[in-house]
Amino acid sequence: MKYVSEFRSPEVVDALLKEIRETVKGNWNIMEVCGGQTHSLVKNGILNMLPSNVQMVHGPGCPVCVTPVNLIDKAVHLAMDHNVILCSYGDMIRVPGSGMSLLEAKSKGADVRILYSPLEAVKIAKENPDREVVFFAVGFETTAPANALSVIHAFKEGVKNYSILTSHVLVPPAMEAIMSDAACKVDAFLGAGHVCAIMGIGEYYPIVEKYKIPIVVTGFEPVDLLEGILMTVKQLEKGEYKLENQYTRVVETGGNKNAVKTIDEIFEVTDREWRGIGEIPRSGYGVKEQYSAYDAVRKFKIDIAESHEDLTCLSGDVMKGKIKPDQCPNFGTKCTPVQPLGAPMVSSEGACAAYYNFHMATVLEGIGH
Ligand code: SF4
Repeated sequence: MKYVSEFRSPEVVDALLKEIRETVKGNWNIMEVCGGQTHSLVKNGILNMLPSNVQMVHGPGCPVCVTPVNLIDKAVHLAMDHNVILCSYGDMIRVPGSGMSLLEAKSKGADVRILYSPLEAVKIAKENPDREVVFFAVGFETTAPANALSVIHAFKEGVKNYSILTSHVLVPPAMEAIMSDAACKVDAFLGAGHVCAIMGIGEYYPIVEKYKIPIVVTGFEPVDLLEGILMTVKQLEKGEYKLENQYTRVVETGGNKNAVKTIDEIFEVTDREWRGIGEIPRSGYGVKEQYSAYDAVRKFKIDIAESHEDLTCLSGDVMKGKIKPDQCPNFGTKCTPVQPLGAPMVSSEGACAAYYNFHMATVLEGIGH
């Protein structure tokens, strides 16, 4: 890639939209798995430019959105009751837990810090040898190498007052869970380009074969997304199901072997609870036994038996593609980015926040404002 502007060219966008309109005959629901893709589709107005028989359905690819309430409660407990320096990415601190968010904990005096990298947290641990430092390691396969690297770094440097609270989720098992739902109305997937840049594309062949569904690994710029949609529609119209890679400038078939090796050093695949969706077998990463001293849950022996969701939040239905964010009765009324009921209204990758921030004029028109 030389310039990002090549992938935002209005002329290329127009040509791709024309070809999609000329190609599509049936009615198709295409799920973009990744929250970054959702935001790009909404922010760039692509949802409104596609023909009405190509519906984009928004998937569960927002790691902050699917982090279970119980883990947020554990983070709050660590910050409030164990006097740790609790470090996290910015979005995570505003997500509601059962009792309070990390932001509310901070307002009550807890030492909660927003960081851009887990390596900063290791540095804070070195600078504060008399305090425990915990990094809330949230993310898909994409951020797992950096979080794993922070543990390797702490281990090699003999930093013993550092640990991670892990909330890592994996994309392919989530796609399987969506397809296994009897009410699923997804006809094809746009695969998450950045996840495949790390993991490669091999994990998706079995899903294509098992569910006879097209998957096109796709990037994030308007031209990427429209190319991915066009490649998907072409398959659907021909009755084909294949794994294709639109994002070849970034995604290599085998992924990034060094990054995968780093992940494998620290993490093992475990069952994982997804907020709003439930438990998905073998859909997350946990810290391996030999690095358990760096696993905050084991280190601090935290066990919070009961956590409570706001049951009026329909985030599970949004993330499984059953409803669009503006079909939730709370959207824009009881639930806004200032007073969110659920994580998808908080996160920069959440579908509800995307609709609220970039799609509001259309939505308000639709609900009669
Ligand atoms: S609009 Fe708010 S309440 Fe509704 S699904 Fe989205 S986050 Fe949950």
